[in-house]
Amino acid sequence: MLACLINGPGHTEVTEVPIPRLQHGEVLIKLVAAGICGTDIEKVHGAYGPGGILGHEVSGTIASVGDGVTDLKKSDRVIAHHHVSCYNCQYCQHGDYTTCDLFKKTNFDPCGLAEYFRVPEANVTRGAVVHLPQETSFEEGSMIEPTACCLRALDKAGVSPGDKVLVVGLGPTGLTQIQLLRKMGARKIIGVDTIPHRLEMAQNLGVDETIDPSSRDVSEQVAKSTRVGVDLAIVSTGNQKAIPPALASVRKGGKLLLFGAPAQGATIDLDVGALFSRQISILTSYSCIESDIHRALGFLAKREIDLQSIVTDRFALQDAPKALEHARTSRTAVKTLVLSKA
Ligand SMILES: [Zn+2]
Ligand SMILES: [Zn+2]
Repeated sequence: MLACLINGPGHTEVTEVPIPRLQHGEVLIKLVAAGICGTDIEKVHGAYGPGGILGHEVSGTIASVGDGVTDLKKSDRVIAHHHVSCYNCQYCQHGDYTTCDLFKKTNFDPCGLAEYFRVPEANVTRGAVVHLPQETSFEEGSMIEPTACCLRALDKAGVSPGDKVLVVGLGPTGLTQIQLLRKMGARKIIGVDTIPHRLEMAQNLGVDETIDPSSRDVSEQVAKSTRVGVDLAIVSTGNQKAIPPALASVRKGGKLLLFGAPAQGATIDLDVGALFSRQISILTSYSCIESDIHRALGFLAKREIDLQSIVTDRFALQDAPKALEHARTSRTAVKTLVLSKA
């Protein structure tokens, strides 16, 4: 079978590898659709640490199940989450599930950009393989994981009806957050990006105002339209240059949420005096857990969010390296998917 593996800094290759063999409690999924995530690109280019397993936004069908698996069967349409928590450690007991030591140790084998991939027993027993409703397409299914990450982050930030929110970075997650914020009752949503196509998509998906930071000062513009600043600013890009203007746009007592994964070692200059006197809280959120996935599916099942229109580009599995490069460099790409033959 084919799998896309990292074979050196900046290099990926689709190669022939053996189909994984199943142990007790595991399942083998035949990939249909996989989304390219910013973290995949960072893994390839080493910004996220050395090596890494590509592809975690996946949908497909069950190809086979190991001994002891009773609630999943061959041909079931599913999505799967690559990481699960122990639900027992000190982090988990405090609800910080995605910081659990087990979390990043659980993953697909050999990766999610493969014709078939093995899901470990730890994931299967915790319910990280979830049936995809018949009315939800595989493409939409592949975007449930990032949507669940957005939901977890917005919960953490505590969005209240009437809030004014700034979303900096209108990639797939920024565009999803805009829609979720609207459903959660946000009154004014302002989107920021330098790419005209993305600003246009944000307008179509319900943003109230857009700002292109290459032509207008973000915090000045936010001050004009909100008077005191936004209640919450979300940095939905890993580029740390987006943080200072987002922070400057937050009202006194408001919150800044870092959502996009910055490169390892990325730093910013921070006026901690101003941060303190303005009483701004800085929050971070990473990944999601099974309950977030179920909630994301619920939003989609009720057609409360539109994920399909975020998909702009599709590549065949054998062209996965091209898909990764396209997602990294294209000015028009929003969500790039890798599709495997059904
Ligand atoms: Zn991701
Ligand atoms: Zn734990």
